[in-house]
Amino acid sequence: MVIEVVRIGQRLVRDDRVTTHVALVSRAFGAETIFMTEVNPEIKDTLGKINETWGGNFTVEFIENWKPIIKKKKEDGFKIVHLSMYGEKINDIQDKIRGRENLLIVVGAEKVPREIYELADYNVGIGSQPHSEISALAILLDRIQEGQQFEKEFLGAKRKIIPTKTGKNVQVKETRD
Ligand code: SAM
Repeated sequence: MVIEVVRIGQRLVRDDRVTTHVALVSRAFGAETIFMTEVNPEIKDTLGKINETWGGNFTVEFIENWKPIIKKKKEDGFKIVHLSMYGEKINDIQDKIRGRENLLIVVGAEKVPREIYELADYNVGIGSQPHSEISALAILLDRIQEGQQFEKEFLGAKRKIIPTKTGKNVQVKETRD
């Protein structure tokens, strides 16, 4: 299963950190790519440095507009999962989404265009209260992968954490493999 994420819109400046965190969660929770409009060009560098240190090949791709990427991914056989508090309950729908298809997950910033609700194969609510795209994305990715994303190896890492009960244990390599 390939999982990709598209971030729709960003409130200028105010959302910089949130957008970075959406990208970090995408990477850490097993997605391969995030598509976003280029509001903050530094985000590519930030995620590139994270890959360099902590491994993997997560990519940030800048897009002009959300619609062509959603249409293209649909043509390529991806299912479109739009996170929205108005959507179907995650508890009711997670079994349908889980493990079957390649997924493009759509997260918003401010009000998303009505058309996205129609283009989506699944509109999914992580509860029906407003909260955050970061938490909604993390919970969806965890429900879909049932924790298996944390078993994934991030290849080529210069640093690898060895989980320990107390303290910090980090294996260090000088270069990526
Ligand atoms: N009032 C906005 C709306 O109508 O969509 C909420 C925007 S919220 C700050 C930003 C994004 O977080 C939403 O577009 C959605 O992707 C996600 N989100 C927030 N709460 C959610 C929930 N309960 N379930 C699923 N996604 C949610």
